[in-house]
Amino acid sequence: MDEYGNTGEGRAARRDEAVRSAVEQGLLGPDSPIVGLLDVTGIRESAAELRAAFAEVTAPGTPVLHAFAVKATPLVPVLRLLREEGIGAEVASPGELALARAAGLSPAQTVLDSPAKTPAELREALALGIAVNADNPQELDRIDGLVRSAVSRSPLGIRVNPQVGGGSIGATSTATATSKFGVALRDEGAREWVVRAYLDRPWLSRLHAHTGSQGIPLPLMAQGVAETYALAEEINRRIGRPQIDTIDIGGGLPVNFASDVTAPTYAEYARALREAVPGLFDGRYGLVTEFGRSLLAKHGTIVARVEYAKSAGGRAVAVTHAGVQVATRTVYVPGSWPLRITAYDGKGRPKSGPEVVQDVAGPACFAGDLLAEGRALPLLDQGDYAAALDTGAYYFAHHYAYNSLARPGIYGFVPDRAGGVRFATVRDPQTLASIVAESGGAHAGALTTLHGPGAVDTQRRVK
Ligand SMILES: *Cc1c(COP(=O)(O)O)cnc(C)c1O
Repeated sequence: MDEYGNTGEGRAARRDEAVRSAVEQGLLGPDSPIVGLLDVTGIRESAAELRAAFAEVTAPGTPVLHAFAVKATPLVPVLRLLREEGIGAEVASPGELALARAAGLSPAQTVLDSPAKTPAELREALALGIAVNADNPQELDRIDGLVRSAVSRSPLGIRVNPQVGGGSIGATSTATATSKFGVALRDEGAREWVVRAYLDRPWLSRLHAHTGSQGIPLPLMAQGVAETYALAEEINRRIGRPQIDTIDIGGGLPVNFASDVTAPTYAEYARALREAVPGLFDGRYGLVTEFGRSLLAKHGTIVARVEYAKSAGGRAVAVTHAGVQVATRTVYVPGSWPLRITAYDGKGRPKSGPEVVQDVAGPACFAGDLLAEGRALPLLDQGDYAAALDTGAYYFAHHYAYNSLARPGIYGFVPDRAGGVRFATVRDPQTLASIVAESGGAHAGALTTLHGPGAVDTQRRVK
């Protein structure tokens, strides 16, 4: 439990109420068999916890920008909600930047970090005054050209990879020796190159590292930040003035997918950082953070109707409408990304009864499309609902168009005064017309009317 009393009990109770109300209000049912639900109260609480955690460890007056990693939950209403809670945006593509702007985020609240920025993207970011972290020497060359040709308010920095090592999940470990991100600091000559880059460019004022996401232990995250801080100190010492005035420590706080408890908390991480890197918090440096998963994951739930309940080889199988299209990582790499599943009856009430080992399957046409395999749960029947918990980040907002399955509707919820639940549409369910349009519907004849020299005209031949 953290200082907000966050054992997750409130969260679980709000979730149960929301599932029941979603069924009652018709958001979920036979004709809309899958939805994503977002707990607005929980999102606001996490944002407040993040701000409080760093306010506690920083010297009074230290500028701190918490920039939400938009890739975690790329939904405009979520970005607007976070903006209202004092949280900015970390963007990594023109699409994410467009979402942040549509949510009303200002350039001063926005950081651009992608590893493959085009010249046009860099030009736009500098024209807008958005902070940019250069990923590599070639990108810094491009920025040099832009800085020479126009005045920009953009705070500019370099992303480094302290190469402190990976965590338990390779795909989300960004500080390995051969990671594709940033300037690999321990490589021969790299550190000196970075120092020179700052010596030669008085306008470089930031230093950035993001040393991993889910699966990285806190001490390793703290070590990555400590090495980044040590480099900033070295650069400022060599230059003889505090040219680097802001350190961007990235995101990556892991999420507990095993229960409703928030662990680790932002407060624990901020204290671990202060312990490991006290100088970072003494007021000489502004801070940028880029948390994604830890802000949103626990506030999202996928709820899917059980279309059929069957049995195969002695195993109970619930065939639901949630599978690879909304839980891509879990389905393809179940060992690294297990999700908790809860069972609800046809009225959306938590199901009780003896637990039965069963598979919770998705709707896609391949055998591995399982939300959970061999999971002990109250037996799911036809017309019941299965909920995949902690899916507010990197799940239902990351639709995978397998089998042309429609993107589900996403609804935010808050408790109302009468003990019920009020919903708001965050994203409409995708229509069939939209699926056809996104699948080349406007170009139906494109391939049959495309003939190379000497091609036989099949239309004429069949006549
Ligand atoms: C993905 C990413 C983040 C957010 O990571 P989380 O694990 O979701 O907190 C932050 N910064 C950068 C540069 C990233 O690529």
